[in-house]
Amino acid sequence: MNVFVVNCGSSSIKYQLINMEGERVMAKGLIERIGMEGSTLKHTPAGKYTIDLKEEIPDHKVGIRLAIKALTSKEYGVIKDMSEIDAVGHRVVHGGERFTDSVLITSDVLRGIEACCEIAPLHNPPNLYGINACMEIMRGTPQVAVFDTAFHQTMPKVAYLYGLPYEMYVKYGVRRYGFHGTSHKYVALRAAELMQEHMNDLRIISCHLGNGASIAAIKYGKSIDTSMGYTPLEGLIMGTRSGEIDPAIIPFLMEKENMNAQQIDDYLNRRSGILGISGLSSDFRDLESAANRGDDRSQLAIDVFAYKVKKYIGGYVAAMGGVDAIVFTAGLGENSPFMRDKICNGLEYLGTRIDPDLNQVRGKEREISVRRARVKIFVIPTNEELVIARDTYNICRRIIKL
Ligand code: ADP
Repeated sequence: MNVFVVNCGSSSIKYQLINMEGERVMAKGLIERIGMEGSTLKHTPAGKYTIDLKEEIPDHKVGIRLAIKALTSKEYGVIKDMSEIDAVGHRVVHGGERFTDSVLITSDVLRGIEACCEIAPLHNPPNLYGINACMEIMRGTPQVAVFDTAFHQTMPKVAYLYGLPYEMYVKYGVRRYGFHGTSHKYVALRAAELMQEHMNDLRIISCHLGNGASIAAIKYGKSIDTSMGYTPLEGLIMGTRSGEIDPAIIPFLMEKENMNAQQIDDYLNRRSGILGISGLSSDFRDLESAANRGDDRSQLAIDVFAYKVKKYIGGYVAAMGGVDAIVFTAGLGENSPFMRDKICNGLEYLGTRIDPDLNQVRGKEREISVRRARVKIFVIPTNEELVIARDTYNICRRIIKL
């Protein structure tokens, strides 16, 4: 069975075609600048060179058509025709309280995803464009939605409720939802496998540290708390997002800097975070080299970020009554020995310590704690596409006769 995994952003589409016998990626691709000048498609058949196409891509439907054209191309395709795509798995950012797991997309599910657009106006609409495009192009092929929020639906009320009048939760669904669920679930499962234990017997803290960053407390197989909230703006300081701040700062800045709601939203999402503190870049690679050259504000941005992650780890140890493993994943978590060391430095009281030699790893799965540490530390590259493909396969194999 071949699963087409689709992840639509507002101006981009990431895709993979995965053969589920052996979970083999047959090809992957990235479409960028949809609806803008200079749109491109980068298509990489497994083990081959990337093909770079410059095409006019006015909308997501044209984008999906192009991706399928690339997958079925005589020159660099990996399948003969569209009929070899057995199912489609879509990443959907927000599933609200309704979707606690991945689901087969029906008209009722579509209405449910549409209803979540109100709480995820930036993310859910492009996800829907992708779903609608695939449903139109691949009529009859089953489509599955995999939600970023679903894994965190196990959080108890004490973790997801804000200190606002309860009616705001009832009326508008204002509560913590959490994101990156697919990633947290995948790395926690892998950590359990590497420890040769069952996830249901472990307390795991997973640190997804990329441009967007979040931490989750996964107690005995269930997410019981996570740092992102009603939107992906809460929690850690991120590349360009502020993370948590005193809410009173918002009206204060709006007044002082003469900003309206849209402008303050943009300010907190795109101009804050480590970019805002350093005044230099949202990329940790730039900050690490600038700090090495003596740039104080880059050093400060790094320090603030690491401090915040450490504080969350401590908080989640308390929330779970202990911890068995800490996992680092995503761009920064997988690739920065320096940041991992900085975060874990001082956590020895938990019964763990990073082994400096083992920590010299980038983008590879490895245990990096010292031998016989009571609390294990892992680097585990995330693989959200694989989780989407697996869920799609598990849901669709019951309905597809192969
Ligand atoms: P996204 O949230 O966009 O998916 P990624 O998970 O790809 O983000 O992470 C991207 C970020 O990871 C970059 O902005 C950069 O800060 C960080 N990063 C990637 N590689 C390295 C590296 N070798 N050293 C330090 N930081 C890195």
